[in-house]
Amino acid sequence: MIIDISTIKDTKGASFEVELEGPPEPMEVAGVPLKPMTPVHVVAKATSTGHKTILIQGKAKARFKAECHRCLKEFVLDVETGFEEQYHKGSARPQAVSEHEEDEILTYIGDFVDISKEVNSHLALALPIQLVCSAECKGLCSVCGKNLNEGECGCSVDEGDIRLAPLRQLYEKQA
Ligand SMILES: [Zn+2]
Ligand SMILES: [Zn+2]
Repeated sequence: MIIDISTIKDTKGASFEVELEGPPEPMEVAGVPLKPMTPVHVVAKATSTGHKTILIQGKAKARFKAECHRCLKEFVLDVETGFEEQYHKGSARPQAVSEHEEDEILTYIGDFVDISKEVNSHLALALPIQLVCSAECKGLCSVCGKNLNEGECGCSVDEGDIRLAPLRQLYEKQA
């Protein structure tokens, strides 16, 4: 995902909007890989802020196929995020590695700003903590394995917590 900034880089305040697509980097949630269904789609505004700095503000989205953690069915996961990054004119030499990650300076070379890495890391940050097809997903029956989103299975799962069984017996004796 590369933006040609030749028309604005020497004019402070100049900007334009751009729409572009690129391949998503491999992503996973809690060790489960996501299957990309679409390229990463970006709508962004590039602004020359002077001092050889380009500000990129935009939105990125991508669609993945994922397996529900509870019911094991595949579902479509849409991930969307906003982002804002500043790029400074750099040389072809590799950057000196900064001691602190947050101090890392992003650079562009010549007329081109490559936003692929940053867009992908913003998308990765927007991923859910757990992969569930919906917040209401009932998961699978622990006895027969039926997908409980498709209906009740009739198993008696209301046995309560097995660790409390001795306690329950005690109550029943007293009754
Ligand atoms: Zn589910
Ligand atoms: Zn069941």
